[in-house]
Amino acid sequence: MKDLNGRLDLCSINTATLGYQLPIGQTIEAVARAGFGSIAPWRRELEGESVKIVSRRIRDAGLGVSGYCRSSYITAESTMQFSNAIEDNRRAIDEAVELGARCFVMVVGGLPKQSKDLAAARQQVHDGMAQLLEYASEQKMPLAIEPLHPMYAADRACINTLQQALDLCDALDPSQGCSVGVAVDLYHVWWDPDLEAQIKRAGRDKRLLGFHLCDWLVPTNDMLLDRGMMGDGVIDIRSIRHWTEAAGYAGSMEVEIFSRDNWWQRPVAETLAICAERLQTVC
Ligand code: ZN
Repeated sequence: MKDLNGRLDLCSINTATLGYQLPIGQTIEAVARAGFGSIAPWRRELEGESVKIVSRRIRDAGLGVSGYCRSSYITAESTMQFSNAIEDNRRAIDEAVELGARCFVMVVGGLPKQSKDLAAARQQVHDGMAQLLEYASEQKMPLAIEPLHPMYAADRACINTLQQALDLCDALDPSQGCSVGVAVDLYHVWWDPDLEAQIKRAGRDKRLLGFHLCDWLVPTNDMLLDRGMMGDGVIDIRSIRHWTEAAGYAGSMEVEIFSRDNWWQRPVAETLAICAERLQTVC
């Protein structure tokens, strides 16, 4: 496993970690100044901005783009809503291309409103992904399906384990053309008894597109916005990182921490400095 000490160039900051406190231009500068090699911006930060100019700023700052966050939910109440979601995601894929992102991160959506039919929601995800994959392949933009912790199955993503995500990849792309894969986010998958085997499978099939780091706090006070800084929780980060690298992952170590009451309240430079320190000491 690579030693991250002195190798922040291998590391990335997902801008959600900084609580969207600054406009994207300043965020780019802060991440570069702190020594990181890459950044993963969110669509909301690019609203009203020229993607071309943001893309140039990222490059001029010497940063790569480890991923672009993220898809609109595919699952929908009506065919109209479904088509709108596909259309919206196509535009986002164009932006990811313009940014030179390594992948476009897919959070697929949970149950449509009023529905209890999880199987139908998963079928919608399959059908929507198939349409998007065709488009993304033409644009040469890999789609990274991010399985979310099962606690989000109703409202954020009905793809909840790495196995499920990889089965979906196989169904969509049996030839393993590297056009669709997974983003492994520690927060969502750390508890999975099958994690090591599925990471190995993902590596074998060339489907490891992203690796997101944070920690699981005990207790967790908010289902969405109380992620921990690496080292502050119970995830065996080193072991999981070891499995991922042994499986062939060579991309960035991307820090992604949603933390409304703690890290989002701190100055951006402080959070970045602590991310840097923890990446080099406990990851
Ligand atoms: Zn993530």
